[in-house]
Amino acid sequence: MRGTVRIFWAAIFLLVSPQIWAQWLHPSSVPLPDTIIQGGWLFDGFSDQRQANPGILIRAGRIAELGVNPADFPLATTRLIVLDKAETILPGMFDLHAHYNLDLIDEGRVEEVIYNGALFLANGVTTTWSAGEYYPERVIAQRDRIDAGEAIGPRLFASGPYFGAFRCEYSVKVAADECIGWPNDITETEIRNEVDVWQRAGVSSIKIKQATPEEMRILIDQAHKHGMTTASHLANYNVEYDVDLQAAILMGLDRVEHQLTLGSGGERSAELPEVIDLMLEHEVYYDANLQMYGGINERRAHPDDMLWTNEAQYFTPYTQELLTARGDPPPESGAKEFAQRERELRLLYEAGGRDLLVVGTDEPVYTLLLPGFAYHRELWAMHHAGLPNAVVLQAATLNGARALGVHDRLGSIEAGKQADLIVVQGNPLQDIKAARHVNRVFKAGVEYDPQALLKSAKGKIGPNGPDDHADWVLHYRALRGDDLSQE
Ligand SMILES: [Zn+2]
Repeated sequence: MRGTVRIFWAAIFLLVSPQIWAQWLHPSSVPLPDTIIQGGWLFDGFSDQRQANPGILIRAGRIAELGVNPADFPLATTRLIVLDKAETILPGMFDLHAHYNLDLIDEGRVEEVIYNGALFLANGVTTTWSAGEYYPERVIAQRDRIDAGEAIGPRLFASGPYFGAFRCEYSVKVAADECIGWPNDITETEIRNEVDVWQRAGVSSIKIKQATPEEMRILIDQAHKHGMTTASHLANYNVEYDVDLQAAILMGLDRVEHQLTLGSGGERSAELPEVIDLMLEHEVYYDANLQMYGGINERRAHPDDMLWTNEAQYFTPYTQELLTARGDPPPESGAKEFAQRERELRLLYEAGGRDLLVVGTDEPVYTLLLPGFAYHRELWAMHHAGLPNAVVLQAATLNGARALGVHDRLGSIEAGKQADLIVVQGNPLQDIKAARHVNRVFKAGVEYDPQALLKSAKGKIGPNGPDDHADWVLHYRALRGDDLSQE
């Protein structure tokens, strides 16, 4: 049976990309016993209600059947898990804006994949897409280690580096500024080559940020040639970098992040109804990243809803000192602009965009807060913006899988799908905060203990002292010449 599954997936994915296929295999050479999860409640990923758990049979890493009776299975070879009446089982959750990059020593954003991955998984996030990377080789190597069973973490969908001048992080302010990673005279051939290089590394979705309209058109075209999807941060970089969202949608952009208009209400947001119509027509996904834009303002306004555990303990003592000294940066958006972001999210939902909402944390780490926990701040913020909890949970599960094009295998609790499941304490349909109390996590049928994962990351993130900075410094890479991605 296992051999058949392996050959089946291998055959499918070798056609797409030789590097991706392993993402779907269970690495263990020892077959897992059949597992039945009974008791408690079940949210399937798309219904408005939870239902009494009918009994889930997990076989060879997949959900084999729903509605099974343990009495029909041999006790000696079947593992039985009985959930408590107060527990709810859900599909594993998706973070569609899961940065693994952290700026800990004021030397730029760099990736830390090992412990952040453990924290995502401990928080019930079984799949991440990383929305722009500065050290993509770290992300890809960790993805491959996880897929080979040599490391523990979520299903890691790499984005590759930023496609656009954000490769030079915040040093590029306007289009005229030069970036060695994305030169102003970049040619169409170079742009298409870049997409090809990262497609060969198994990237199935890219992030566009600070590209010109013409660059974006080429990027989307080349990505789509490979069956890859595209997401973009559109913003007002002193006008010159603007790609109008409606224009981007007509180019074929698959996902938009942060905001739907570049305004904060009033005249500058007047195009909102047309934008929403166009998003519905072209099925463009949206992750609003409210928790990041609300920042310190929202945490001050709703401390009990946004903070519930000591996240600082996962940093090294030295890093805790650095980040404490740095203090909270100002929020990314002021009150008026934040209210407009909430409004845009709510209006897209009310206009019929339920299936287009996805959850993304967008938490590059500048403070003592971490993306795995930020995920639950985002769920709460979406609820607080006026979305029903069932809609938020669908965004967190099935919609995330759809947006990544993997909904035939992930995102809901249905027979035939991969057994990526989480068990939480309480009813998240009634109180979204129940989703943050994760009792069990399964990925491809393998169970992970959230408490053990949390413990494994304690005191680990960041440099250990001033002599340990080397891995935490961002070096921009030239597109021409010594591009490490070409190795
Ligand atoms: Zn981001």
